[in-house]
Amino acid sequence: MQPSSNISLLPYNTFGLPAKAAHFVEIQSVEELQLALQWGFEPVLILGGGSNILFTRDWPGLVVRNTIRGIEVVRRFKRRVWVRAGGGTVWHDFVRWAVQHSFGGVENLSLIPGSVGAAPVQNIGAYGVELKDIFVALEAVELASGRRRRFGRAECRFGYRDSIFKQAEKGRYCITSVTFSLSLAGHRLNTAYGDLQKTLASMGISAPTIADVSEAVVRIRSSKLPDPAVTGNCGSFFKNPEVTRPVLTNIQRTHPAVPHFDLPDGRVKIPAGWLIEQCGWKGKRVGNTGCYEKQALVLVNHGGATGAEVQALAWAIIAAVERQFGIRLEAEVNIL
Ligand SMILES: Cc1cc2nc3c(=O)[nH]c(=O)nc-3n(C[C@H](O)[C@H](O)[C@H](O)COP(=O)(O)OP(=O)(O)OC[C@H]3O[C@@H](n4cnc5c(N)ncnc54)[C@H](O)[C@@H]3O)c2cc1C
Repeated sequence: MQPSSNISLLPYNTFGLPAKAAHFVEIQSVEELQLALQWGFEPVLILGGGSNILFTRDWPGLVVRNTIRGIEVVRRFKRRVWVRAGGGTVWHDFVRWAVQHSFGGVENLSLIPGSVGAAPVQNIGAYGVELKDIFVALEAVELASGRRRRFGRAECRFGYRDSIFKQAEKGRYCITSVTFSLSLAGHRLNTAYGDLQKTLASMGISAPTIADVSEAVVRIRSSKLPDPAVTGNCGSFFKNPEVTRPVLTNIQRTHPAVPHFDLPDGRVKIPAGWLIEQCGWKGKRVGNTGCYEKQALVLVNHGGATGAEVQALAWAIIAAVERQFGIRLEAEVNIL
């Protein structure tokens, strides 16, 4: 295993943005990772599928692409099973594997791009399920020391598209494997989302299986989100803002139909896509970038865009929403 120099990262990020890594390596095991860390190139960036990264500049140190694969059952209980997957496993391959084995809990997270190792970083979520709902523990390697460390659930401090790996421990670990708890029997399917119910009904299914839910999610996502292989994007660019009730009441004066969801702490979540749409950005094109025509939350690369262009578009959208609604949107995507 040898590092390569001056490598284009364009094929390694789903936005399809140009950036270069001074040094680059693909690792297939913890031992290879530990060896690469001994080369001493700094700073180190751990890359999975590149589906949640906006490169605005070249990376001056070492980019480590995690391709530690493998899925195995590590414990079997009466009604549940613990499954460990390598951090470099493609997330949807893991979901497909679970569905094929009739292991439940992960089916709503079908077709989310990226790797297993990145999934805890932002506690990925979709259609009423989050990674934390099935999470047991993860193994990681500290980049500074090369030492292995296990993180339990509480230590990860999962939040909405958030964890300790986006906060205090940001950029300090490579997640090498994740262990999940999946149901063997008595699956508790989560089909409350309106879109999911409609799609299952259109498939003629009234008593869905895990595989049916997975298939419905795949259909919805394929019809709503741009395929990164065709149009560069990173999915939702912004988080949905969580605001206090007086902020909502204020917006309701001018927009009585503002969609919102109650949170357990008394605050409310407002869809960022709706706010952006009200500001007239949906489907708008600026140079080589733009706001996706079917979902304002998704910023796209129409071809030939740079990271700086996408970032400028994001800042313009943040400013517009803040002017009109007094809410400052926060990026979900990691801007580098
Ligand atoms: C079309 C589309 C739809 C999407 N839909 C959703 C969705 O529904 N829900 C959702 O939550 N997300 C969604 N995303 C975002 C993205 O898929 C997830 O955030 C995913 O987990 C990113 O995985 P990745 O391997 O591509 O991470 P990368 O983009 O490679 O990395 C993301 C961040 O994690 C760090 N990282 C990566 N791997 C590791 C590791 N092994 N150890 C430590 N740090 C690491 C990186 O340094 C970086 O900071 C979508 C993206 C796209 C393009």
